[in-house]
Amino acid sequence: MAPRPYIVGNWKMNGMRSMLGEARAIDRAAQRLMKVEVALAPPFTLIHAVHREVEQIGVGAQDCHAGEDGPHTGDISATMVADAGAKFVILGHSERRQDHGETNELVRAKADAALGAGMRVILCCGEEESVRDGGTAEAFVLNQLRKSLPQMQSEADEIADRLTVAYEPIWAIGTGRTPTVAEVEAMHGAIRTLLIELYGETAGSDVRILYGGSVKPDNAAELMAAKNVGGALVGGASLTAESFLGIVLATS
Ligand code: PGA
Repeated sequence: MAPRPYIVGNWKMNGMRSMLGEARAIDRAAQRLMKVEVALAPPFTLIHAVHREVEQIGVGAQDCHAGEDGPHTGDISATMVADAGAKFVILGHSERRQDHGETNELVRAKADAALGAGMRVILCCGEEESVRDGGTAEAFVLNQLRKSLPQMQSEADEIADRLTVAYEPIWAIGTGRTPTVAEVEAMHGAIRTLLIELYGETAGSDVRILYGGSVKPDNAAELMAAKNVGGALVGGASLTAESFLGIVLATS
């Protein structure tokens, strides 16, 4: 059976305790929309609080350190976010690659740490506009994934459950612009072929490939119906229950 569509809200550097009501509202609605798997990644400071507020939706982190607990001032390890209630970690987001110089190798090390701490991983990839304009977007993204995806030896169903890929063209993030459905399908098809090569036919076919970048209630149905699109990673539109649930509803 094909895995359920997966809609993940990435709150980025947003969210005060006053936003816990949004998480509660999303959770209540998700309990009635079981055809879709819904999750939220609040900032570190709210992981534990959101985890305590919700029953149905998954709660995750937006990053973790690659190493073990120890002398790293200001950093937060995979075991610490898991202890706070996180069930998954978003890794390799373009904002972390750009703002913090995260390399493919570091992203892979973080993915290994997150999996080692018993969490699931959403691994992000995506090209800049100049790369797309130059006609090498596919090669760029596949190279990024080859170098940053974790090398999992698990059973096929465990790989498909614990690993998710998110394709997020950088020029579509927070801009209101999206690729065409044909462009999304071409990229997701190329990623699918790579996943089958790396993890085998069964696992590679079932790993969900999310699309991210300016997903909104009014474009979600079209994007989510595209071939090889297994859900969405949503930034801006995940900050209110109303718009986030609009996307979940458009998917279900
Ligand atoms: P956006 O962000 O939905 O605000 O474009 C998506 C993301 O960066 O995950």
